[in-house]
Amino acid sequence: MPLRVYNTLSRKKEAFVPLHGKRVSMFVCGITPQDQTHLGHAKTYVAFDVVARYLRSKGYHVFYLQNVTDIEDRIIAKMKSTRRAWDDIVAQYFAEFRDVMERLQCTSVDVYAFATDYIDEIVEQIQGLIRKGHAYVAEDKSVYFDTTTFSGWGKLSGQKVEELRPGARIEIEERKRHPADFVLWRAQKPGEPAWESPWGPGRPGWHIEDTAITIRHFGVQYDLHGGGTELAFPHHEAEIAQAESFTGVTPFVRYWMHGGMVMVSGAEMHKSLGNFWPVQAALERYEPEVLRFFLINVQYRGPIDFAPELLEEAKRSYERLRETVRSVEAERRRAPPKGKADPGLRDATKNSLAAFDAAMSDDFNTREAIAVLFEFARDVNKAIESGVGRGPLDGAAEAFRTFGDVLGLFQMKPSETDRLDGVLDLIVGLREDARKRKDFATADRIRDALAAVGIVLEDARDGVRWKLK
Ligand SMILES: [Zn+2]
Repeated sequence: MPLRVYNTLSRKKEAFVPLHGKRVSMFVCGITPQDQTHLGHAKTYVAFDVVARYLRSKGYHVFYLQNVTDIEDRIIAKMKSTRRAWDDIVAQYFAEFRDVMERLQCTSVDVYAFATDYIDEIVEQIQGLIRKGHAYVAEDKSVYFDTTTFSGWGKLSGQKVEELRPGARIEIEERKRHPADFVLWRAQKPGEPAWESPWGPGRPGWHIEDTAITIRHFGVQYDLHGGGTELAFPHHEAEIAQAESFTGVTPFVRYWMHGGMVMVSGAEMHKSLGNFWPVQAALERYEPEVLRFFLINVQYRGPIDFAPELLEEAKRSYERLRETVRSVEAERRRAPPKGKADPGLRDATKNSLAAFDAAMSDDFNTREAIAVLFEFARDVNKAIESGVGRGPLDGAAEAFRTFGDVLGLFQMKPSETDRLDGVLDLIVGLREDARKRKDFATADRIRDALAAVGIVLEDARDGVRWKLK
């Protein structure tokens, strides 16, 4: 099925045609590492991980770039409240983020680009914008984008004027010529980290880092930009204004994709609202795959209205599905090469692969795709009961691998891991027995054989432990 993508810019589903054949440049707004990764972040990054995986499964060569906002107001606030260095805070929370992403199998990002590594590009873009009359230097040596010079302002979101958030700093607002103008370069205040620029020491505004990073990696135009729907205005609107004013090339981005948020009783999940669920807390109670399944069991544009019982429900559903995947694997090892006549499993497999692809090619509809999986699982279980032979089961197992690779599911096999752990404990115990008998030849042979497959033994106070190297 030809892929269709909902483009926020045109407000409709469009055929997906990359700018350069099979090459796809994809950018997704990354985190500001200054606090724990919460479920809202996880929903966004799991969704775009599936997008990249699906595109790759269709033969596209995806270059997936994500920025890291490593200097920003919230990092400076944290710096002041904790008396820690800004880069120390960034290092800690970025490491936590990477750990969470890895556990959730979000493995498709090619490059994480840190804003402060692109100061040269940022300065160059701001200089260009000033030269072309799109930006101005304020009294305090901060630089602002003049939104009245960009006729396309508001075309992505339909919004024209920035809403003044309560608590927004008035002295900054006063330096703007127009309320919608936004900062490109913020002059240094005492005690704040700063970088050199033609306007004096300071730091980049939030919006400019993305266009500096993408223009350096992708050039003046690229295929796909993703992010949470709350970023469409003013963040993405500002990106368009900056890039299109700087390069003169329209559209800056071909497809704008926005993911729905995680809501709690109708409100956005946010630390300041006290309804914040860190992913690490969720992972203490649920397996990463259960969480991932929960997050993609909606089409990405849809929100999730979060309630803990929904996670329980997701756990039960996912375990049912995974049990079928496990029994297909077990049965096909056991099944005779020629079992009873195929009750239609080959057809069901073929139809499910086609239905899965149809769902995914319809704007990455993972909810529909997962519904296909459940239906397929029912067919597979029936076929197993009827004593189907190895051939059709091999096909079904292969189909589950295809589904699992695209969705990032069925990668973990906890039951098998548990079994292997049991076997290893037994081997380590047998070696201990050999040592007690002073049969050092056997003990050494076991240790060396384990070392050869990357398992090392360590003496602990209460005996010997094994560890993967
Ligand atoms: Zn961004």
